[in-house]
Amino acid sequence: MANSRFRAVEEAYAKTAVKARPPADSTSDYYGCNVFSRSNMRKYLSSDTRRKVYESIEQGVTLDRDTAEQVAAGMKRWAQDMGATHYTHWFQPLTGGTAEKHDSFAEPYGKGDSLEVFTGKILCQQESDASSFPNGGLRNTFEARGYTAWDPSSPAFVMGDRLCIPTVFVSYTKEALDYKTPLLKSEVAVSSAAEELLKYFGIEGDRVFSYLGWEQEYFLVDSSLYAQRPDLIMAERTLVGHNSARNQQLEDHYFGSIPSRVLEFMKDLEFECYKLGIPVKTRHNEVAPNQYEIAPVYEQANIAIDHNLLLMSVMRSVADRHGFKALLHEKPFAGVNGSGKHCNWSLGTESGISLLAPGKTDLENLRFLAFMANVLKAVYDNNALLKASIMTASNAHRLGANEAPPAIISSFLGTQVTEAFRELLNSMDMVKIKGKVGYSLGIPQVPELLIDNTDRNRTSPFAFTGNRFEFRAVGSSANCSSAVSVLNTITAYQLERFREAVDRRVASGIPVMKALLDETRDTFRSCEKVCFDGNGYSEEWKAEAARRGLDCETSAPLIYDSLLSERTTEVFGRTGVMSRTELRARAEIDWEIYSKKIEIEARVLADLTANHILPVATRYQSVLLDNVSKMKEIFEEDEYKKVASGEIDIIREIAARISEARSLVIRMEEAADRIIEIGSERERAVAFHDEIVPFLDEIRVHVDALEMIVDDQMWPLPKYRELLFVR
Ligand code: ADP
Ligand code: MG
Repeated sequence: MANSRFRAVEEAYAKTAVKARPPADSTSDYYGCNVFSRSNMRKYLSSDTRRKVYESIEQGVTLDRDTAEQVAAGMKRWAQDMGATHYTHWFQPLTGGTAEKHDSFAEPYGKGDSLEVFTGKILCQQESDASSFPNGGLRNTFEARGYTAWDPSSPAFVMGDRLCIPTVFVSYTKEALDYKTPLLKSEVAVSSAAEELLKYFGIEGDRVFSYLGWEQEYFLVDSSLYAQRPDLIMAERTLVGHNSARNQQLEDHYFGSIPSRVLEFMKDLEFECYKLGIPVKTRHNEVAPNQYEIAPVYEQANIAIDHNLLLMSVMRSVADRHGFKALLHEKPFAGVNGSGKHCNWSLGTESGISLLAPGKTDLENLRFLAFMANVLKAVYDNNALLKASIMTASNAHRLGANEAPPAIISSFLGTQVTEAFRELLNSMDMVKIKGKVGYSLGIPQVPELLIDNTDRNRTSPFAFTGNRFEFRAVGSSANCSSAVSVLNTITAYQLERFREAVDRRVASGIPVMKALLDETRDTFRSCEKVCFDGNGYSEEWKAEAARRGLDCETSAPLIYDSLLSERTTEVFGRTGVMSRTELRARAEIDWEIYSKKIEIEARVLADLTANHILPVATRYQSVLLDNVSKMKEIFEEDEYKKVASGEIDIIREIAARISEARSLVIRMEEAADRIIEIGSERERAVAFHDEIVPFLDEIRVHVDALEMIVDDQMWPLPKYRELLFVR
């Protein structure tokens, strides 16, 4: 089979830091070769077993134990042919990232013999200790059982020496302990709500899915420089570092040509992604120096998210073998752009109807406006919750801090869709929507351009982009399940309310089309305030948004409160996605992780300042002092005053900054020691936010000033210009 050839290529890649494309004629030769895909199933499963597996994937039918045995046997043979010796349930705990526990296929029995075992039961379910993962109080150490259960809708794959089986992770008492469980439930909720409503539009038996196309931003830093930055290693961001003279102000990096060493890394990464069936398509430079983006073709949300998590882990290991560190943190460098993970989200049917795209007929356009109005209403009503779904200690540096997107969730619609809604509000008739219009440049050899139905608005956190919404506020390191589950759930809830309202109108004798039109109009009118096409970064918008009643909170721990609001409980409860207990657990975990992240930053910065920076600053100060006192011996009093005064000023500044920084570090550590004793997760997180974060900023000011003063030769840390421009 083709795989051994590619394993050899892999080895070559690993050894040589890869100089060429894989020696395959086309991507299709190896695309998905590490996935238990349909073509691999054809080789390893009987047609009867395959039919049942497809049914399970496509129609959500539960697999019977007998079929599971057959699948397990085939999967094991395939995995062993691929060189796998171990298997693992692959799941998504609330720590972020993914978790695996490797078990060997080999099971010793008798005297020195061993049997290779992988049964249907092992495939379907595993038990593991849930108390060692974040569980928000759902699991205590004395009642610690958790279960992972196979998700057949996401294909198993081989990575290195192990067979990975995508699973959900739940507690003994059935509460979700992961990101995948609520996501799958939210998909069920939004599909059934949308399918019900579609009946009014004459569509039946066409399954609805939520789709996701993510755009992953990241930085690359040379590994040897990275190794000298304790802050990058421990906190994943630079806690100190003066801006380099040049950063992104020339705007010459965005879409610029990709440096060759980076290009080799990207090719290697794409090769690995293709083998895992991740349909990556686009790569380019981002705005900041050494910042890049990779994006696939969109897929069903559940698969897309598994693929994003896989990509993040593959990216880290491929970067390692090219002598880079991939930074997925939202804000590794102050003063240059941070990294996001734009989530392009839409609803569509199995047969290919996009529910968020204008159509050709009046009915199709009414369907479009109805779905749009419902999404906008869901976003308006659950504004704060949507923000909670993407807020983390690291993403807080992007949201509403000094860069975009703002910490206020509004939606950009663009002129044509806005006009269509205006028309809907002002008339009682069907609405016409302009399609793509022709646009001639007046240059004879350039063909006519077709202009999209929306322009771009880079400042909007939730922008309509023609056939989908682009949720830009999601952070680069996030498991985007959190955001997508909320989008699906709030939309499902709103679609149900909408359909009930239409039902009521129809029951009172109003013709169906008029009922749909009137309800769409009323829905849009009730949430119009969430639409904003202007500059989302401006101060005026902050004031205006507050007047419109949008959530303007910027403190992460307070934003998490919305997980526990009456509204959230109602929305998640009615849709069956999460219970109040599960929501509470999530809030507890969000607070806990927030506190831990800030505490780590505080400890690392304290160490960095006290042990790396201040000793060097003191040494440089002594050099200057020595110099000045020697000057005094040589120069006359008047002359001395003239030549030494500049240096004396510098000595004064160093002394002042050292003493100020030292005292801030001591106070910060005392505060942190006190705060970690606070019993309530929420209060502790609030204290870390209110008391410790300001210390981090203040200490940095002094350290960064010292960086500009102290002899470059003595400075112990690689500087921004090295981290950002060495490639
Ligand atoms: P940009 O926003 O930079 O212009 P692209 O046009 O390349 O980005 O698209 C970004 C992502 O949106 C891609 O992953 C693409 O597949 C995805 N996408 C396109 N159409 C849809 C859709 N209907 N639903 C969800 N994602 C989509
Ligand atoms: Mg984009």
